Amino acid sequence: MSSRVGRRAFLTGTAAAAVVAFDPLGAGWVTEASAEASADVPRVPNLDGELVVDEESVTEAADDYGHLVHRRPVAVLRPGSVRDVVTIVRYANAVDVRVAMRGQGHSTFGQAQAGGGVVIDSRTLATIHEIGADRAVVDAGVQWLDLVQATIAQGLTPPVNTDYLGLSVGGTLSVGGIGGASSHHGMQVDNALELEVVTGDGTLLRCSSTVRPTLFRSVLGGLGQYAIIVRATVRLTPAETTARVYNLFYPDLPSLTAAQRTALADGRFSYLEGQLIPGADGWQYMLEGVVYHTPPTVPDDAAMTAGLNPVATEISDLPYFAWLNRIYDLVEQLKGLRLPGPWINVFVPDRAADAYVQDVLADLSPADAGGVVLLYPVLRARFTRPLVTLPDDDVIFLLAILRAVNPPNEQDVTRLLATNRALYDKARAAGGTHYPVGAIPLTPADWKTHYGPRYPQVILAKATYDPRHVLAPGQGIFRRP
Ligand SMILES: Cc1cc2nc3c(=O)[nH]c(=O)nc-3n(C[C@H](O)[C@H](O)[C@H](O)COP(=O)(O)OP(=O)(O)OC[C@H]3O[C@@H](n4cnc5c(N)ncnc54)[C@H](O)[C@@H]3O)c2cc1C
Repeated sequence: MSSRVGRRAFLTGTAAAAVVAFDPLGAGWVTEASAEASADVPRVPNLDGELVVDEESVTEAADDYGHLVHRRPVAVLRPGSVRDVVTIVRYANAVDVRVAMRGQGHSTFGQAQAGGGVVIDSRTLATIHEIGADRAVVDAGVQWLDLVQATIAQGLTPPVNTDYLGLSVGGTLSVGGIGGASSHHGMQVDNALELEVVTGDGTLLRCSSTVRPTLFRSVLGGLGQYAIIVRATVRLTPAETTARVYNLFYPDLPSLTAAQRTALADGRFSYLEGQLIPGADGWQYMLEGVVYHTPPTVPDDAAMTAGLNPVATEISDLPYFAWLNRIYDLVEQLKGLRLPGPWINVFVPDRAADAYVQDVLADLSPADAGGVVLLYPVLRARFTRPLVTLPDDDVIFLLAILRAVNPPNEQDVTRLLATNRALYDKARAAGGTHYPVGAIPLTPADWKTHYGPRYPQVILAKATYDPRHVLAPGQGIFRRP
């Protein structure tokens, strides 16, 4: 049976044309409107939602936040139920096509795409089922923004939030989900308690650290390779009402990282990040520390900045939600510009961090930095999920160059992708790893190196849960058997 799915003439292209079958001989999908639909092609079982092939849906599913890679699926599923996900994954196994769940499509290098296959749009599975005293049960397509709003209304919060809240729960649990509170609580994957998943062979299963723990460990940070997350139970903690934000400025990189190490070690901030800001006179170095609190209890500013020795200090208070959601509007505006985003995110061991970042900055022009450059440390011990691959050191720095190419042009994109690859190689040589949400050209051999001693575990999980390699081809981790 052919795995090549062509968009043939019988895809009539009517708006939201529903797909009824896959024609293995013609290697294409058959729509309701097609006269060629015949009894001898495998029919798509009845769905609660819809499987569509219209141009708008397919084009959207062939794009993402990076606008760098465009692999067109031939159909998009808008599931009406978890059963639809099971149905399509089983059907994909039967007719030998590939499937990717797409959350908000905010990865930058085609990770959520499925060229020639089916993209499942998780936005139609977005119910918050339950908010309890210490946990929430949500569909994978729920945006963290909606969950955060709903939990804050009950005095609760997810312990770790990404800087931007417009990401899906399933999407960040597939990659990790890191933020300023990770220095205390690890990643979002470390705060997932239970999952409901559809494995690559189309089996709906529950898993947790005690029920099917191998599946649970494989899916969290598993880059969508072993199962599709359809529902998650995530940890909640009491929410404070207010964020006091300390922006502390330093004249150079060593003084910034020294202050970050001090603050990380004593855990004084609820949230710890940092930014490298390009300016007219070179780089500015900023520590961003936040203390969550509820007045009348307020942080002691002198104690919070003691020993950190900034050359300038800015202190401000924001309501907790306003703080968490601080970049949402900016990101929505940027999205409208559709700028190419060749992002690179690497984790570097503490022992190599200053030298590596210094080296990167020496060649990084403000134009190539483009958007935001983040640099912050976390404690390795807080990160518990085996497939989130991190350097071997007690302290790890995340360097994230979140660039946007403006004005868009192919030449800069090509050059910056090559730069990303070179920076990745240098990070790897220094004992670093990459955080796989960016745009680094990688081969399956690179992924083997990435997983290192865990690679046999990764191969076994793939063979066990997705033996026909149906899921998430856009990550490019495995060659098809
Ligand atoms: C503006 C912006 C800010 C960001 N800030 C942060 C940050 O602070 N911290 C951080 O950690 N990350 C951050 N990210 C990166 C982000 O976490 C990842 O790109 C994440 O994968 C995006 O979620 P998504 O819902 O858009 O997933 P998608 O891009 O749609 O999918 C990503 C991968 O996960 C798979 N996937 C999606 N849903 C599921 C599911 N339900 N089950 C199984 N696999 C699935 C996809 O197939 C794909 O392989 C940011 C991204 C953007 C654009």
